[in-house]
Amino acid sequence: MNYSFRKKNKIVKYIVIHYTGMKNLKSAYSKLNNINSNVSCHYLISRIGIIYNLLCPSLKSWHAGKSQWKNILNLNDYSVGIELENNGHDHGYKDFTNIQYVSLKKLLNFLNKNFYIKHQDIIFHSDISPNRKKDPGEKFLNHKAGINRFKNNIPNKKRYSILELLKIYGFSNFYIKKYKSECIIAVKRSLNYKVINNKIDFKFRSDFYNLLFK
Ligand SMILES: [Zn+2]
Repeated sequence: MNYSFRKKNKIVKYIVIHYTGMKNLKSAYSKLNNINSNVSCHYLISRIGIIYNLLCPSLKSWHAGKSQWKNILNLNDYSVGIELENNGHDHGYKDFTNIQYVSLKKLLNFLNKNFYIKHQDIIFHSDISPNRKKDPGEKFLNHKAGINRFKNNIPNKKRYSILELLKIYGFSNFYIKKYKSECIIAVKRSLNYKVINNKIDFKFRSDFYNLLFK
C-alpha cells in the first residue's frame, strides 16, 4: 500500500475524517491497499462497525491530497486519516450507521490518548480541500461520534463578517480568497443542512455563528 515516512519535525496533530465514496467495502478496501491507486489511509470503518487498521499512524498515509488548513499545507504530513464506509454523493449517499459512530468514537479516544489530539483538530476532508471534496458530508453527525469541535471558542465581538467566521472556522486564507463559495458549502455540510448551496442568508449567518461559539 502507499505510504511515506513522517519527517521528524512534522508530528501528528490532526485527524481527518473521510467517506470512502465507493459502491462497497470490498472495492474501497482494495483501492486503499492498492499501490497503484495513489491513495491510502490509516483506518477504515465499515458500516457494521469493524475497524480496519490499514497503516500504522506513525507512518504517513496518502488520504488528504492537496490540502490546506489554517496556515498549514499538505495535511497528510500532520494527520491520521479515517475512512468511513459510505457510497458517497456519487453512488447513493447514506446515513452513517450507529455502530460506525460507536467504533469511530472508540478509535478517536484511542488516538486522542496516543497523540493528544484536541477536539478542534478533528476535521473533515471537505474543510481542508473545499474546492475538491465533499466528504464526510452533511450526513456526518459530530455529536454522535462525541466530537465537540468548537467548544473552546470564545467570541470577542458581537458581529463577525462571513470572512471572519470562515477564518475562525479554520479555512486557509487561500481558500477563503479563491474559493469562498466552496468554503460556505463546506460549512453547510458541517452544519448538516439538507439543502447544500452557497447562499448566505440570515439563518446561515446565525447558524454559522452558533456553530463556532455556542
Ligand atoms: Zn476524503
